[in-house]
Amino acid sequence: MSGATPSRPAPPAGPLAAPLTAPALLRPAPSPNHDARPAGTPVDTLVLHYTGMQSGAAALARLCDPAAQVSAHYLVEEDGTVFALVPEHRRAWHAGISEWRGQQQLNGRSIGIEIVNPGHEWGYRDFPALQMAAVCDLCLDILSRHPIPPWNVVAHSDVAPDRKQDPGEKFDWEGLAANGVGLWPGPAAAPAPPAEQALALLGAIGYRTDLPLPVLLTAFQRHWRPALVDGKADPGTMARLAALHAALVDAGAPPGA
Ligand SMILES: [Zn+2]
Repeated sequence: MSGATPSRPAPPAGPLAAPLTAPALLRPAPSPNHDARPAGTPVDTLVLHYTGMQSGAAALARLCDPAAQVSAHYLVEEDGTVFALVPEHRRAWHAGISEWRGQQQLNGRSIGIEIVNPGHEWGYRDFPALQMAAVCDLCLDILSRHPIPPWNVVAHSDVAPDRKQDPGEKFDWEGLAANGVGLWPGPAAAPAPPAEQALALLGAIGYRTDLPLPVLLTAFQRHWRPALVDGKADPGTMARLAALHAALVDAGAPPGA
């Protein structure tokens, strides 16, 4: 240690300099796993994940390991601590093969947030309120900086339904939407449409339609009908599909991909 006058560390340059709006702690934890975004591509999608590892520390180490070739822009610990891994103007490697509303390779146009939870493999558990509050504040902060419409706030399982389950049915999407992050339709007023309309509605919402219907319905249920995730086009699921589609149209979404 030198005898130099103590000074505060300089705030990070670039988008991360914007302060979080709430009492979350933002800690730098730079990951080397990123590259340039494709030229001329807007950042118009927000993809939420769970880490799916046994601890937050293990997840953070992996997301910063050059050999792992994975990352996200942020990681949110269960106590609400937010780690900043990749600057928002760079492409983090979080979504892999992915598609939503006709756009593929979503890493190029998205911000990715990893949320610490062991996931379905290691003991899936509730997301603590402090963690959800930090996620919400972080999302609102991100939405203030990028043209991300509510219908493009999605789960990893929405954009890769054949490979991914995260962040899963315990994630509080309804609470986020109540705070202005993403879409959560109210109770459906109309009778549920027939099951034959499931695929068309899924496609209009944004899902790719070239996968088995139960796979797509499972992904939809994890996000928008978490009470029962069974991949079936029951009346409750059909009502939720129609209600979400109506909410999307009301919010101004262009016709589905
Ligand atoms: Zn994921």
